[in-house]
Amino acid sequence: MDQFGIYIHIPYCLQRCIYCDFTTFEFNKIMPPEQYVEYLKKEIQTRSRFVPFKSLTSIYFGGGTPSLIDADHIVSILQELNNAGFETNENTEVTIEINPATVSKDNLQTYLQAGINRFSVGAQSFDNELLKACGRRHNADDTVNTLELLKDYNYSFDLLFALPNQSLQQLQRDLDLVNKYKPPHLSAYCLTVPEGHPMSYHRPEEEAQVEMFHLIENELKKSGLLKYEISNFARPGYESKHNMLYWTYNNFWGLGLSAHSFFNVPDYGTRFWNPKKFDDYTDQINSDLLISQLPSSQKEHLKTHEALTDFIHTHLRTTRGMNIVQLKNMFPDQNDQVIGRLKKLKKDDLICSDSNNFKLTSKGFLLSNFVFEYMAFFEDCI
Ligand code: SF4
Repeated sequence: MDQFGIYIHIPYCLQRCIYCDFTTFEFNKIMPPEQYVEYLKKEIQTRSRFVPFKSLTSIYFGGGTPSLIDADHIVSILQELNNAGFETNENTEVTIEINPATVSKDNLQTYLQAGINRFSVGAQSFDNELLKACGRRHNADDTVNTLELLKDYNYSFDLLFALPNQSLQQLQRDLDLVNKYKPPHLSAYCLTVPEGHPMSYHRPEEEAQVEMFHLIENELKKSGLLKYEISNFARPGYESKHNMLYWTYNNFWGLGLSAHSFFNVPDYGTRFWNPKKFDDYTDQINSDLLISQLPSSQKEHLKTHEALTDFIHTHLRTTRGMNIVQLKNMFPDQNDQVIGRLKKLKKDDLICSDSNNFKLTSKGFLLSNFVFEYMAFFEDCI
């Protein structure tokens, strides 16, 4: 059965971190949240009638820092989704991203009462020097207080590594503290910045980064967190349902500034997205522009080679891998070519398979960029 999630982009942050490439702004430098939330609600009212799914696998408030805006705004967005006929049930995962030091006991109660049942904490590190170097305003004490607040709830911890001047010992200290708090889920992000960026200097070499990744994987096993995707670890049963939609060719509707959407209909599916600039976004919402009326620069119907590439890349990111029968059913004419390439990668120990799925090996996970490049399909080769 088709699964469906809604992503809501809240573009406010305490600071603009110098490594971040999301569409976010410092809190006081853009329109006030109450005004932005009205646009989100109008977007729901105008466009929801044409969304072909109603039953929700997940809702995800991301950004930005959604916990920075008044919790009542978050509640009112959930209410609007409900008014528009979107249905949640006891299995619907409802996540909000929070920054340490932006959540109080009162906020937490408001979130819980509104049905939010998962929190994603942008902690990054317990090392105050490294946090400062990233331009983060929170410190390790703020993170500890937030984790104490969340200890009885389902939450995810964001860990950033391979930072300038970061040693293996510093990462080990972060992981010792992670293992003390035992989050049910952790996302480990290797810092990625372009050459010449202020944070691109004095970073651990590639070999050291690989060592760091092995350390993370091994240390997290001590808390029962197992890798289920290239950068994500969870206790069994705590994998992110929302992110799994992205990795299994399922449907999501993105609301708000710059948000991306994908519906796997018609044919191989449609991607569409909102503008990154406030004025463009608000103009489109003010003029009641429907999804079907978005300009061609904001939508694309997937061609076979694009859908095939997406299907392979997203599924191979997960440790569960890519189902062979599903691949054959969706792309019967391309099956031989795909299997041929996968067999070549299998010979190089980058891919393995059982009777149902093709998966990356440990070596394949480390060299995933190479695998994805090799498993990219172009119009002229199909
Ligand atoms: S807090 Fe997160 S979303 Fe905001 S600027 Fe920093 S990294 Fe980006």
